Amino acid sequence: MKKRGVNHLSEIIDDAVARDIAYFSMEIGVDPRIPTYSGGLGVLAGDTVKSFADLKVPVVAVTLLFRKGHFYQKIDDSGMQHESPVEWSVDDFMQLINKKVTVKIEGREVQIQAWVHYIQGVTGFKVPILFLDTNIPDNNDSDKGITDYLYGGDERYRLMQEIVLGIGGVRMLKALGLDSIKKYHMNEGHSALLTLELLGTETSVDTVREKCVFTTHTPVPAGHDKFEEGLVRSLLGEIWPAHLKDEICEQGKLNMTLLALRFSKYINGVAKKHGEVSRTMFPKYHIDSITNGVHSNTWSSKHFRDLYDLEVPGWRTDPFALRKVAGMDKFMIWDTHLKNKKKLIDVVNKETNSGMDYDIFTIGFARRFTEYKRPDLLFYDIGRLLNINDNIGAIQIIFSGKAHPKDGQGKETIKKIISIKNQLKGRMKIAYLENYDMDIARLLVSGVDIWLNTPLRPREASGTSGMKAAHNGVPHLSVLDGWWIEGHIEDITGWSIGPRPKPDENETFADSSKDVEDLYHKLESRILPLYYKDRDNWTRKMRSAIAINASFFNTHRMVQQYVTNAYFE
Ligand SMILES: *Cc1c(COP(=O)(O)O)cnc(C)c1O
Repeated sequence: MKKRGVNHLSEIIDDAVARDIAYFSMEIGVDPRIPTYSGGLGVLAGDTVKSFADLKVPVVAVTLLFRKGHFYQKIDDSGMQHESPVEWSVDDFMQLINKKVTVKIEGREVQIQAWVHYIQGVTGFKVPILFLDTNIPDNNDSDKGITDYLYGGDERYRLMQEIVLGIGGVRMLKALGLDSIKKYHMNEGHSALLTLELLGTETSVDTVREKCVFTTHTPVPAGHDKFEEGLVRSLLGEIWPAHLKDEICEQGKLNMTLLALRFSKYINGVAKKHGEVSRTMFPKYHIDSITNGVHSNTWSSKHFRDLYDLEVPGWRTDPFALRKVAGMDKFMIWDTHLKNKKKLIDVVNKETNSGMDYDIFTIGFARRFTEYKRPDLLFYDIGRLLNINDNIGAIQIIFSGKAHPKDGQGKETIKKIISIKNQLKGRMKIAYLENYDMDIARLLVSGVDIWLNTPLRPREASGTSGMKAAHNGVPHLSVLDGWWIEGHIEDITGWSIGPRPKPDENETFADSSKDVEDLYHKLESRILPLYYKDRDNWTRKMRSAIAINASFFNTHRMVQQYVTNAYFE
């Protein structure tokens, strides 16, 4: 179905121009069919927008269109990842707004248009998401492609995207009559150029600072976006703020995090520990923390939504109500889990022909494949793992995840997992689901028996997939990093792996052998015996994961903290 374009946002949303907050994010993932996200950051942004809508927070969200998405992943028999563009039809999901703005890039006028998709909250309130797009006949062929690929291309391509997002985004809001924005929220530094656009219209740095909120997501300096100063000058032209150079550049590079920090009055990390790590990285700034969440309604499986509707009415508007699950019949939770597990195992067997079993303890690991997440940690000592499997309790493992096209190490790790999977054929069932996305995530976090996370701390700023698991009564087994430091209650909401971080310890803890010893020890001494021999007690853990963690680690609680601490402070 083709939809006509609109001339004003008000044709779609009555009170669209009365927005106080503009939420900028390079990626936003609200629907598995709209492939404008790559992973945790985008899914978090999408969940946040959904909670804004549910809670009637007057927000307009701004992102890029990505006509070719991030990439579609295929893995061949040797474990090699192959990437191809994602095919999707933009006008099935959004409407074009008949309004254009321009930004100057390398002296050229680049035209930008916007598509709108809105999220309607449980109460009917609508939050528009503007998807900026440069695929316009007047632009030259290369500029038409600026908004094609999420995290594709080189430094120059990325900087052009960030100009479109930050500068183009602010201009688009103005052009659409959204001129009462009180706060510009930068979800990560990609949109930080918006501060320079504001600086052009505001009277001083202080008035810009009043208006800006910045959420940093990366606890390692290498993770922050940086651009060669020469490149920035040549692309930005006169907008380049030469007088601020010393504050926003490091070793001849513009650092987007420094830019965002310099111009934001409110700054936060995404978990308590991450706030602490960020304060050590940027001691000059006051950095708060607001721990991430997930959108309860999105990440609870259909079967759990039905159960909660029956047992905890009102949970969709007020997920704190999920604490009531603490008093629920444990076997209702177990039965609901079995339905989810059956659904997952059926899909896995159909897709991978791996002959997985409904009755075997199933470990899930799925996220971006990158070195610090250590996806292969479970296979550190294969002999020991097989021994646990043969003598303590059978294990089957399901993996999924993409490696960034330029992350050679990440791709090697996929190969390694595939090769171990083949090597262990007949001894342990292992499956790898291709093309990890929100659909597969939903299936996995609800269908496995335990959700595993093994990051090298303190690199996991927050992590959110373990919160999704908690919404489905799936206990978490994880290194104590990010949100898990806050959500972990040993043997109640799940289990830790490795030592507890000390309060002032913000350096990388790299002793994998300690972590792995603890991981095997927990599996053989506690987790597997409990699962196979004390189902009553096992379901208690499942119930606590929901009552204690799902009721708190959700984007409703998170958005309410942003509203009180960051937006209307
Ligand atoms: C939730 C989610 C993530 C984030 O997972 P982490 O384990 O928190 O890194 C990544 N990708 C997809 C598709 C997700 O749904």
